[in-house]
Amino acid sequence: MKPDFAPQALLDAVDGDTMLREVQDWAAINTGTANIAGLDRMAGVLADAFSVLPGEVELVDPAPVTAISAEGREFEKPHGRHMVLRVRPEAERRFVLTGHMDTVFPVDHSFQEVRWLDDDTINGPGTADMKGGLNVILHALKLFETTEGAARVGYDVMINSDEETGSLASRGLIEELARGKYAALTYEPSALPDGTLAHARGGTGNYSITITGRSAHAGRNPHEGRNAIVAASDLVLRIKTLEAEDITVNPAKIEGGSANNVVPDLAVLRFNIRPKSTEAMNRFDGELGVILRTIEADHEVGVHRHGGVTRPPKPVDAKAQALFDLVKECGAQLGQQIGWQPSGGVCDGNNIAATGVPVVDTMGVRGGAIHSPDEYMIVPSLRERAALSALVLAKLSTGDHL
Ligand SMILES: [Zn+2]
Repeated sequence: MKPDFAPQALLDAVDGDTMLREVQDWAAINTGTANIAGLDRMAGVLADAFSVLPGEVELVDPAPVTAISAEGREFEKPHGRHMVLRVRPEAERRFVLTGHMDTVFPVDHSFQEVRWLDDDTINGPGTADMKGGLNVILHALKLFETTEGAARVGYDVMINSDEETGSLASRGLIEELARGKYAALTYEPSALPDGTLAHARGGTGNYSITITGRSAHAGRNPHEGRNAIVAASDLVLRIKTLEAEDITVNPAKIEGGSANNVVPDLAVLRFNIRPKSTEAMNRFDGELGVILRTIEADHEVGVHRHGGVTRPPKPVDAKAQALFDLVKECGAQLGQQIGWQPSGGVCDGNNIAATGVPVVDTMGVRGGAIHSPDEYMIVPSLRERAALSALVLAKLSTGDHL
């Protein structure tokens, strides 16, 4: 059977000038994760842009998220809305494509402008991470819709507003949209500027432990106090012993304390863990529970635990590997050499993989220096990557690959 698409024809059909103009416009809108007004504007722009595709665009409210203040109080954190496009939901074979509209640059950061570095490179906030990637999704799908196979399959596009702070307000949505899909593609920038993809990833978890002791005078009746800082320090040393080959633990901050003549009754300990496997993640969770009970008993303090693993480890199973192989094969047909390497970072691909759906999560543009004012995007990669995704989707829409 003759395929209904030719790789070179796909590449020729991509309008690189329009892509670049859109990325420049999108990068000019500040979308720091805490800038709700900017995110709202961006969500509207994206909803308009993606409405050229078939299907329904919806702006979804963020799930409620709480955090712990330095005073040990739980408070709600506001987030922006997420964009979801559902195309042919009745199709038997469906994909999910995901990206994020937020950046790490707050509205008052000095890095807000897009400028040219050379003929092929622009420097700007979120150009690589990942407004360029969002634009690749749009144009890849526009192109994919012109292929014959498209009508046989369906897909969801999910663009969240909170990836850079761990997707706490979109995690449920991501998992819901991923479940039951044939494959998932996420549009983080390539791991290296040459287009190398991120392969297996570790996981990450963030915890805030609030310790409540009892205050007393440091001179008159110190024995009646229960020192929250001492308990927090003991806790730091104990959780650090849980480090192993397959997990690291980083105690990051102790807040609280009081004047020098007061036994402190409050401490908040923040720490991060990086489990390399699901087994390590679960083992840590169990051992932490035991340690917290010991701290409570030994120091006669109250202990409140907040947070946990937000990004489970992402191993690459056989199905996911088959998807990597397919991306590589499509790249070769387009004259792009694509390899992969493990990554120390995390992204929404971790949460998608945890639902059992094969995912390649660095399908976005080529670029680098992300999360810094040197962030750059290699302009020709817009067309390259749009054609690559369109070809991958066209292949996935027929036959048995995974
Ligand atoms: Zn990103």
